[in-house]
Amino acid sequence: MPASTTAQFHLTRATSPAPILTRQNILNNPGFGKHHSDHMVAIDWDVHQGWYDHRVVPYAPLTLDPASLVLHYAQAVFEGLKAYRHPDGSIWTFRPEINAQRLINSAERLGLPELPKELFVQSLKELVQADRDWVPSAPESSLYLRPFMIANEAFLGVRGADQVAYYVIGSPAGPYFASGVTPVPIWVSTQRTRAARGGTGYAKCAGNYAGSLAPLKEARRNGCPQVLFLDAEHGEYLEELGGMNIFVVQKNGTLVTPSLSDSILPGVTRASVIELARANGHHVEERPISINEVRDGLSSGQITEMFACGTAALIFPISVLKSELFSYGNESQVAGPVTLSLRKHLTDIQHGLAPDTRKWMVRLV
Ligand SMILES: *Cc1c(COP(=O)(O)O)cnc(C)c1O
Repeated sequence: MPASTTAQFHLTRATSPAPILTRQNILNNPGFGKHHSDHMVAIDWDVHQGWYDHRVVPYAPLTLDPASLVLHYAQAVFEGLKAYRHPDGSIWTFRPEINAQRLINSAERLGLPELPKELFVQSLKELVQADRDWVPSAPESSLYLRPFMIANEAFLGVRGADQVAYYVIGSPAGPYFASGVTPVPIWVSTQRTRAARGGTGYAKCAGNYAGSLAPLKEARRNGCPQVLFLDAEHGEYLEELGGMNIFVVQKNGTLVTPSLSDSILPGVTRASVIELARANGHHVEERPISINEVRDGLSSGQITEMFACGTAALIFPISVLKSELFSYGNESQVAGPVTLSLRKHLTDIQHGLAPDTRKWMVRLV
């Protein structure tokens, strides 16, 4: 199939969409991940036909054979991005080609087929066109888009599936910080890691998340909403949170973030923060950062801010890094100026409130 092909999607409208009042109530207070829009995109693939039966259908449970490969061997990859309503009513998304390429890379690592980039971007447009009324307009709100690919072939043998399906669902999302951007404490997992050299850490795959959930429970038991993982080899260098990348800011304005490796997920937000920070005159270093460097930097004042970033929460400041053995930082820290200004710049671009000089935004509707 030539790369530029525009697929024909067949639209089946929901016969019982959410009533307008129900939808408005949801959009007034969407939270995160709790509600879904009226439709979903579905495309099937098999080894003989490639991608076929492109459709937009009413949101509904999937029918899966109990022997589906995904249920046993976790052959599943996904993406996460957002649709933003701009002040003129148009709807946009942020750098979707990077997500499209990342889905290709993730799929390759998991033995899944390649979904062409153009088809990925088109699938977002198809869903948002059908569900445009589900894109909220309140500040910092959006329709979170979740494309995913699963092996739905019924087969208990172990090999890459000959039959898979790709879907996109949408879930309205409100502001991550309902009452002001406040730094949060992060739990450092000192015993359990997320990804190792040669593994699947760089792929956005379901299994990586499964492995992060027990450490996340441990974090929550200790009053931390998120967990930070260290490198598997030395247990010494910062890698990332379960679903977010990490930065530290030095007193001279330099930003430092762990260099990418096959055990770190290459975040679109991470890449965008690096570009924006450099454009705003910050020096940015991508290099290994040890937990001891953070400890020393925080106590000497060399490190003045820390933040995590990813599409869902965008950018949130970190107050302390702690584990059963240590607590580095200051629990009552307020959000720092570098974190806040990068956060505002990025949010403003995404919501159409600041000029998009880099052509990062792609119009969906
Ligand atoms: C999705 C994800 C991120 C953030 O990526 P963005 O493209 O910025 O949303 C970071 N780490 C992990 C493990 C992720 O799955």
